[in-house]
Amino acid sequence: RLHNTIQELKGNIRVFCRVRPTVTETLAFGCVDHVCFTLQHLSYHSSGFQSHTGKTTDTQKNYNFSFDRVFGAKASQQEVFEEISLLVQSALDGYNVCCFAYGQTGSGKTYTMEGEEFNENRGVIPRAVQQIFKAGEKLGSQGWEFSFTASFVEIYNESLRDLLYTGKASKRPEHEIRKSANNEVTITNLTYEKVSNEDQVLGLIALANQNRSTAQTAQNDRSSRSHSVFQLDIEGINAGRDVKCKSTLCLVDLAGSERLVKSQSQGERFKEMTAINGSLSNLGIVITALANKENYIPYRNSKLTYLLQGCLGGNSKTLMFVNIAPETDSFGETLNSLRFASKVN
Ligand code: ADP
Ligand code: MG
Repeated sequence: RLHNTIQELKGNIRVFCRVRPTVTETLAFGCVDHVCFTLQHLSYHSSGFQSHTGKTTDTQKNYNFSFDRVFGAKASQQEVFEEISLLVQSALDGYNVCCFAYGQTGSGKTYTMEGEEFNENRGVIPRAVQQIFKAGEKLGSQGWEFSFTASFVEIYNESLRDLLYTGKASKRPEHEIRKSANNEVTITNLTYEKVSNEDQVLGLIALANQNRSTAQTAQNDRSSRSHSVFQLDIEGINAGRDVKCKSTLCLVDLAGSERLVKSQSQGERFKEMTAINGSLSNLGIVITALANKENYIPYRNSKLTYLLQGCLGGNSKTLMFVNIAPETDSFGETLNSLRFASKVN
């Protein structure tokens, strides 16, 4: 367990900031703010501009933030994963591990978590899955036998949707979060798929994406307004040594953190906005409360934290990515995200 030492010294919550490269399309609308960073510090220099709320933001101002790590636009998926692979590994040592991507829509959350399929730009989820199965196999030679169960769920407007559901759309079941006496969280009627290799999990991720895009046609860009939670439950047994371990690796692509302007937020959009704001701010409250070792942690105030209760706090490790966009027209949102993340840090 040597590799956990740094983590233990630092506590169980870490925050990484990732700045996405500029996307030419977006560039057309504005210039790029000055984002300077070193390994752990980020300074954000705004050139000042008219925000979409109509208010002029502070001009020519410098903001400084510190994180456990900062990745710039040039950081590859491989480099980013190298920094979290020990964390992923600890899921096989019996720790619950939870990794989130937080940020406004378009800041690179999905790129970070999922990335592109089947190439060097694949993201945290496929890489973590690959690592877990490889490492699990290695531990096999030391007498360990693992069993894995995958699930993939979307939280939209505080209701749950099974992303691995394959039945008739009209027969989609309702879901509820249940907590057992030994504090294990399960979701009723959810697909929990036994898996034994990487390819099976990649197949499930593809199924989840298909499921998501079906919902999307009915409702434009729904994925940016829902949280998607991938969970891999791991059970290990070493008969020779008479030891067992049990843990969950949880990888979450959060809903976009942007605030909508009032005029846009009516009806369905208003409901969505309220649900997203509520669950993201509660996530911040829960993580901060955990970091401060407070007695009361308000897990039950939102579906997201209630669902993740088992992998947040206690014997668990948490990593949050704060993804930011460097364009000037994202100034307000970028600052909000950086502030949110440094509160949690
Ligand atoms: P989000 O999920 O936060 O809405 P996306 O992950 O979809 O944002 O990213 C928005 C766009 O930027 C996508 O086209 C994505 O491929 C691209 N992108 C994001 N981060 C990076 C990165 N680090 N390198 C290259 N392209 C990126
Ligand atoms: Mg996304």
